[in-house]
Amino acid sequence: MTEERYDALLLGGGPAGLAAAERLASGGMRVLLLEREAELGGLARSFRQDGKWIPMTYHHVMGIDTVTHAFLKRFGMWDSMIWRRIKVVFWFHGRPYPLTQPWHIFTFRPLTPIERLRFVRFGLTCYLRRDWHALDAVRCDEWIERMIGRRAREAIFEPLAEMEFGTPLSAVSTGWLGSRLHESARNRDRYGYPSADLKTLIDRIAAAIEGKGGQIMTETAAVRVGRETVEAVGPDGARRLFIAPRIVSAVPPEILLRIHEEPDRLDPELATIRYRPLICMCFGSRHLISPHYWNVFMAPPLRFGGIFNHTALHPEGGASGEYVYYLFSYADEDSPLYRASDEDLAETYLEDIRTMRPGFEYLWHRIFKIPYSTPRYGLGYRNPPVVSRYPGLYHAGVYRRYPCTRTMHTALLSGCETAEAVLKRR
Ligand SMILES: Cc1cc2nc3c(=O)[nH]c(=O)nc-3n(C[C@H](O)[C@H](O)[C@H](O)COP(=O)(O)OP(=O)(O)OC[C@H]3O[C@@H](n4cnc5c(N)ncnc54)[C@H](O)[C@@H]3O)c2cc1C
Repeated sequence: MTEERYDALLLGGGPAGLAAAERLASGGMRVLLLEREAELGGLARSFRQDGKWIPMTYHHVMGIDTVTHAFLKRFGMWDSMIWRRIKVVFWFHGRPYPLTQPWHIFTFRPLTPIERLRFVRFGLTCYLRRDWHALDAVRCDEWIERMIGRRAREAIFEPLAEMEFGTPLSAVSTGWLGSRLHESARNRDRYGYPSADLKTLIDRIAAAIEGKGGQIMTETAAVRVGRETVEAVGPDGARRLFIAPRIVSAVPPEILLRIHEEPDRLDPELATIRYRPLICMCFGSRHLISPHYWNVFMAPPLRFGGIFNHTALHPEGGASGEYVYYLFSYADEDSPLYRASDEDLAETYLEDIRTMRPGFEYLWHRIFKIPYSTPRYGLGYRNPPVVSRYPGLYHAGVYRRYPCTRTMHTALLSGCETAEAVLKRR
């Protein structure tokens, strides 16, 4: 087995791993980043369709994503950002009800007038309260019921939690949901997308790493991690041994625990973090499903939670003027939906889309089954530390920044924070 030495090894080429590698390379370290997939970017990676790079899952930048903004500025993509005022629309029996601005609640017919008034109080609470930590141990279903009543909880929040977070409301902590709603209330309707596409940002961060002497190996999976050592398998199937005094793990904790040779000596928080798998289908069509960017289907229940109309955010997103959409379903790996073939899934989803838009046809579709789509942010979630108790090991990734939401902003921030900790201890 070949042996190579570096100052730092980074596992995972998602936004967190890339941000950490870039910062460490800027700090003068010889870094090597290992990424299992052929494309960098992790959950924010793109695929090629008819000459366009399209993100694998819907991706937008919000007004509050300040670290993503900083990266877009540094890499020359800020001035050409496309910003749109978008509507989040809830569909009930074929009728869309926007719920983006505070006044939308007054025309939100699925709730009774009394429930709407209670909802206003609820919205104001979410908007005004900044620190939600005190409610971390409070069950969200109970809190929502106290705020807006039982019927509204059952009709709106229970299905929404399952669709949007892949978790029953009873397992969600009020601290987490409250801080998410606080962020949404602050961002409201300003959503952006880089006109050059998201892949350009990922490519430019990667080029900056390499420009500073760092190395990146794609299609190379870390298969065994030890003290200062990482064994990896590349596209040719050959095993290579990498040695470094610092290892930054930017892969989901479940993966790290599986490939580490001393999992029992790692930080105990890691073993408590579980992920939720997701099926995401990206598809192109000449047919319009909805002019709105973000559509949540509440009733009747469909086999997917929402549809994002990517073209509403980025009109040039698809080739030759077609609409590009995303739909998604959270589904456990052993569920029939997750185990279905891509053809069956596309057919199943088509049936449901046609209940809303008869005669709908795809031009193309791509299905991604994502086993590690989001940590399940349940009651009592504990962040692993940046500096592991295991010698030379550091953690980075969205999973260690609860109660922040799972965004590129959070991942980039975490990568930068971890790199700073590494540099400080050099
Ligand atoms: C459906 C969906 C929609 C989203 N929408 C948005 C949005 O609109 N806006 C936004 O800002 N964010 C969005 N996000 C979130 C954003 O993409 C993630 O928060 C971010 O990518 C997480 O970055 P990360 O680096 O922490 O982890 P990841 O992106 O998960 O990166 C981990 C990397 O580790 C690699 N890896 C795993 N095992 C190994 C191994 N053994 N060896 C080497 N490499 C390995 C993986 O291939 C992956 O590239 C969305 C995510 C999803 C799933």
